[in-house]
Amino acid sequence: MNCQKLFPVLLALGFLSSNAWAQTAQTVITEAAHAMGVNGLDSITYYGAGTSFALGQSASVNGLPGPRTNLSDYRRTLDFVHPAATTSAITFAAPVTGGPAKLGVFNELANSGNAGNWGLQMQVWLSPWGFLKGAATHNATVAAQTANNKTLQVVSWESNLKSPAGVAYKLVGYINDQHIVERVETWLEHPIHGDMLVQANYTQYRRNHEGLMFPAMVIESRGGQVVYPIQIFGAERNPPQLAQYLQPVQLPGTATAAAPAAPAAPAAPPSAPAAKAEKLAEGVYRITGGYVAVAVEFSDHILLFEAAGQNEARAQAVMAEAKRAIPNKPIRYAVLSHHHFDHTSGLPAVVAEGSTIVVHEMDKEFFEKALGAPRTLKPDAISSSGKKAVIEGVGEKRVFKDALHTAELYHIQGLPHAEDMLVMYLPKEKIVVYADMYNVPAANEPVPNPPVVGTVVMMDNLARLKLDFDTLVSIHAPNPDVPITKASVLASLGRSK
Ligand SMILES: [Zn+2]
Ligand SMILES: [Zn+2]
Repeated sequence: MNCQKLFPVLLALGFLSSNAWAQTAQTVITEAAHAMGVNGLDSITYYGAGTSFALGQSASVNGLPGPRTNLSDYRRTLDFVHPAATTSAITFAAPVTGGPAKLGVFNELANSGNAGNWGLQMQVWLSPWGFLKGAATHNATVAAQTANNKTLQVVSWESNLKSPAGVAYKLVGYINDQHIVERVETWLEHPIHGDMLVQANYTQYRRNHEGLMFPAMVIESRGGQVVYPIQIFGAERNPPQLAQYLQPVQLPGTATAAAPAAPAAPAAPPSAPAAKAEKLAEGVYRITGGYVAVAVEFSDHILLFEAAGQNEARAQAVMAEAKRAIPNKPIRYAVLSHHHFDHTSGLPAVVAEGSTIVVHEMDKEFFEKALGAPRTLKPDAISSSGKKAVIEGVGEKRVFKDALHTAELYHIQGLPHAEDMLVMYLPKEKIVVYADMYNVPAANEPVPNPPVVGTVVMMDNLARLKLDFDTLVSIHAPNPDVPITKASVLASLGRSK
């Protein structure tokens, strides 16, 4: 092609890209700010009702989101000038440990006391108005994206806040041809999901009497799981009671104490109790000092039940203690009782150790995908070791057996708390190791009536499996740390067998 032909083509392309195809980011942001009534908006408060679903606590990784807590009298207030966000609601929910529902409060505050915490601060910028305000001052870029015959302007910008790895947290907003923000995304570091996608979807927009556009429906999801579906009834711009709305709410009926101070910078965490191995039988150790793990010695390796409790540091301490108690043998198998994130957040350390992770088969795909995700925001043992998770699934039963030991894994069927629950049975020692199905009642507490469902389900399953055992080991150590016998668990149900 000669130059004379090329020149007009370039001119034409230039014309299209600046006017029709690629709008500048500032144009897109200015038009959206105008359409949504964001100009002159320094703060906003909105109210409604919604739900909080606990992340990583669902009955199944494939089913409904985690336990639901209804958020009544929901209010979120955002201050864009001195960036701050307060979300508050009244709750009424049964404690996870069982018993009757209790009235409570939900408060989540982002302010100067936790200015470095993106998990809280992101609420200001994830909102459709905060997204546009941030975009206007943070060198935003834009690209058009067409899918299903619909074109959205995708605006991206980087927050001033940096992740633990020194990476700026990114925000991406999707703006439609009505100049309305339909969705905003960011990424937050997470022990299981790695760089976890946080998405807020905004639909059913309404215009208030001040000309402010607000979405009547907000659905926030994390790592692909819905965590906060909220219906918004109304919104107000620059509320005169801003300072009051930014305070946490108190439980109704409680005397108003002095206004709570802004949360202080987090104190240094108390040093965790050391992981300590306690011999239960020859080659069988209970490791205490946090979530309990049980190490079983085989001829040329160790099997560790609940290897990944709490966090990476705890998992490392537990694995080191298992190898101290059973020297010169690798931890070949790391068994998870169930997928709940408080029981599995130490998984990066287990992956780095090179152990094979053993879970119920319904969790295999989930953990392979989550543990294989990028971890650019916060390096962990997976990113530093460069290792890949090796995961094996268990159906109803799996037996590990050699000359030294037999350990059997069984699936607990029909448990409301988790569909993937596994217990470990040691036939020679007559021990059952379990999580989350029975808590030793306090000395002065009566036997619960009605009985705790999880305990009933566990004992019925152990009876169905005809397991012969005398002792149980709980992943949550009793306080005080008394032995748990089959007879004491049955007595808590008012049964003798
Ligand atoms: Zn659980
Ligand atoms: Zn638990």
